[in-house]
Amino acid sequence: MIRATLFRIGSSDLMVECGIGNNSLAQQHVIQALHSSGLGGGHSGIHATYHRIKALFAWPRMKQTITSYIQSCTIYQQAKAEHVKSPGLLTPLPVPCVPWSVVSLDFVEGLPTSNKKNVIMVVVVKFSK
Ligand SMILES: [Zn+2]
Repeated sequence: MIRATLFRIGSSDLMVECGIGNNSLAQQHVIQALHSSGLGGGHSGIHATYHRIKALFAWPRMKQTITSYIQSCTIYQQAKAEHVKSPGLLTPLPVPCVPWSVVSLDFVEGLPTSNKKNVIMVVVVKFSK
């Protein structure tokens, strides 16, 4: 059962809050609409989704339900942002002190055949690079 409660804010504005109780199917529909759909900003995080839902709906242990829904959302898990405050600068590899002590080797493939050959082997000596 969906119960709606009307609140009067100020003199003319009306806000509708729907208490949807322990109806987990209704809860899932609400979270789906406000987290996963284009309406909800496309797989936004727990904090943003919680506040968006809290403005319109209420049910017991709402934050836990939203948290577990989002934690099981594979799209959110794959797209979530870096949580490190400052990832820092790239750390360069140490420069070798002797030539030919460190080399990299790579093959460039898929080239058109020339003199019966279609691959180039690229060797980079890290000392002189
Ligand atoms: Zn999602």
